[in-house]
Amino acid sequence: MALTGIQILKMLPKKNCGECSIPTCLAFAMKVAAGQTEIEECPYVSDEAKATIGEASAPPIRTIKIGSGEAEFVSGGETCLFRHEKRFENQTGIAILMSADEDAASIDGKIERFNAMVYERVGVYMRANLVALKDTGDAGAFTALTEKVIEKLPKAAVILMSENVDTLKAAAQACGDRTPILYGATTENSAAFADLAKELNAPLGAKGKNLDDLVEVSGKLLEAGVKDMVIDTGARTMRGALEDNIVARRSAVKEKYKPLGFPTITFPCEMTDDLMMEAMIASILMAKYAGIVVLSDIQGDVLFPLLLEQLNIFTDPQRPMVVQEDIYPITGPDENSPVLITCNFSLTYFIVSGEIEGSKVPSWLLIKDTEGLSVLTAWAAGKFGADLIAQFVNKSGIGDKVKHHELIIPGYLATIKGELEEELPDWTITIGPREAGHLPAFLKDWKPAA
Ligand code: SF4
Repeated sequence: MALTGIQILKMLPKKNCGECSIPTCLAFAMKVAAGQTEIEECPYVSDEAKATIGEASAPPIRTIKIGSGEAEFVSGGETCLFRHEKRFENQTGIAILMSADEDAASIDGKIERFNAMVYERVGVYMRANLVALKDTGDAGAFTALTEKVIEKLPKAAVILMSENVDTLKAAAQACGDRTPILYGATTENSAAFADLAKELNAPLGAKGKNLDDLVEVSGKLLEAGVKDMVIDTGARTMRGALEDNIVARRSAVKEKYKPLGFPTITFPCEMTDDLMMEAMIASILMAKYAGIVVLSDIQGDVLFPLLLEQLNIFTDPQRPMVVQEDIYPITGPDENSPVLITCNFSLTYFIVSGEIEGSKVPSWLLIKDTEGLSVLTAWAAGKFGADLIAQFVNKSGIGDKVKHHELIIPGYLATIKGELEEELPDWTITIGPREAGHLPAFLKDWKPAA
């Protein structure tokens, strides 16, 4: 049962020291209760209290970490059924399947596409996240494939798929510190898998023949002390997997049902032979709770739409995407280059900086922290007024980087020109275009005011 903020507060040291980055213990307790921060952030909580609070405030879908460093992938941690209730925490992982008996050219092609297909959108780099390696009965070939993947795919988390514990152990050791998921625990082999998971400190993949069977497998693994796992209901049709995902999420979130309180792993690659159809199935399963979708391959027309869907579903709508307040030099500006200012809503930043880049006029772009609000909204909310802009310009140091003192403000802020001139008496204020698309023409004609 979840603890309230007051119950958590009683277990805190009540120093009100702020070392957790939150000014008071009460505020910290409220945030822990709301799942907005971790109890580990307070360095003074006793281990006993940590265990009690950590267990009680743990999300109903357990957070699973796979791999490490650049190859780390985090799944689960979900607390709600619908994004508008709070937010979804960790995006669905996109995995590519490789079999130990697959020919070398096919494996090399998949490795090349995995590394090459990286897309940047509003400052976020999007790519496939995992590889699922399938044992086909030849332990040596399976370990060799694992070694190759570990060497050639430094940014891939790994899922090892085998029903043979010895084969899994050998391949897992080849993963080094990139701890893989050990997939394939069933009712028959759960004890051996549990021992291996504890020995290697690795998460397990629990596989059922159906939902009921999966509950039995994960129940046995929980009893054996396994904490981290992903779960596969065995469904190999889109409808079956979708229904099972929904049942599992509802049971975990609404009923706090532990055997289903883990991220799900689903296999569109085993539901059809058509890669485009796989992508469609994956897109439906991503929308309804799949922790990981395993595809047989990736191509740009398959991966890119899935990554965009991932970005849409897992971006927190209550938290605007922002860039840091700073001076951004674009294409090597100097002391004679124009100085522009705009807000820190990342979409605005990337559109404006893209247009400046396209103009080929080296420029200084000042980004003022407006808490992610766009220009007009920020101005209306009192976060982009003349006084705040002046404070930022003065403290930014831009005045030392240019000989002229001319600041180009967004066209939508034309009404604050007079106020800004009063706040910044050493600067000339020029009204720029309203639309970013008009910046190239504006910058090409720009000359410092006399
Ligand atoms: S670090 Fe701990 S003691 Fe200090 S304010 Fe935060 S919760 Fe309270």
